[in-house]
Amino acid sequence: MTEQNDDRRECALCRSRELRRVLEGTDRRFGAPGVFQVVRCDDCGLMFQDPMPAREEVEGFCEVPRAGGKSSRLFDAHAGIVNASRARFLCAHAPAGRVLDVGCGNGDFLAQAKKRGWDVTGVELSALACEEAAARLGGNVYRGDLAELELPAGSFDAATLWHVLEHITTPHELLEELNRVLKPGGALIVEVPDCGNPVFRAFRQHYFHLDLPRHVFFYDRATLRAMIEGHGFAVDSEDAPSWYYPEGIAKSMGYLLEGEGNGKTRWRKALSLMACPFFLLVTCGYLAATRLGAHAEVARIVAIKPSENHGIR
Ligand SMILES: [Zn+2]
Repeated sequence: MTEQNDDRRECALCRSRELRRVLEGTDRRFGAPGVFQVVRCDDCGLMFQDPMPAREEVEGFCEVPRAGGKSSRLFDAHAGIVNASRARFLCAHAPAGRVLDVGCGNGDFLAQAKKRGWDVTGVELSALACEEAAARLGGNVYRGDLAELELPAGSFDAATLWHVLEHITTPHELLEELNRVLKPGGALIVEVPDCGNPVFRAFRQHYFHLDLPRHVFFYDRATLRAMIEGHGFAVDSEDAPSWYYPEGIAKSMGYLLEGEGNGKTRWRKALSLMACPFFLLVTCGYLAATRLGAHAEVARIVAIKPSENHGIR
């Protein structure tokens, strides 16, 4: 599909009006009703939902999985390994001080950072997750939108966004606020799914990490970098930690086999389940390859707020 889209809309990154519809998809994970359109900017490559849902709608789409009951032991163990790795990454990129985690969820990452000597603060929209995080961390967890909390300027040594930016309908406001609350020289760590990767291009609307309609912006390494640099940050390093999201190919294959939306049939589901071991093997091969190559399913950037702050959009 390369249909020219409504030319009154503009790209959130470069303000171009050269937008092209690239795919449409449904909520494959939790079945929210509707078909969601994704456009790509011809000039900078940024992709986003169009029309852009309201923040409250996105929150509603995210509440479904949160309210879906307790997570499995395997999921918790995996999350524990991932969050310990993130805390080690934080320690490797900033001397311990005060860290702000936006979209802190149940506080697992912050608990790991606290263990390593950080003074931790979390911000989270979900009431349920907020309660859990506050209990785990003993306070310092705020419920709400970062910009509305009016935290003191220049009060954090580091800020982290782990798979949060892609859910945010107003990324400029968030990045501007993060720049304000960070100390000069403070580190911003952002990680998102990398939609420039070959698996996304192969599966498109069936791609597991597309996660419509909860994801509203679809970054690749270049557009993520441009978005962050546009708010006065200097990018210090970029990498692609592919090993801790190993399910991309296997689950995308499952979606492809299941077919779209209501077209799921029992035999298709059974087929996709039976095919899982094979796809896991393919996935392992892919992950091994991405360890050697430049592309993975995740993009991670460390950016520094310069001591002389200028160049804010
Ligand atoms: Zn653009």
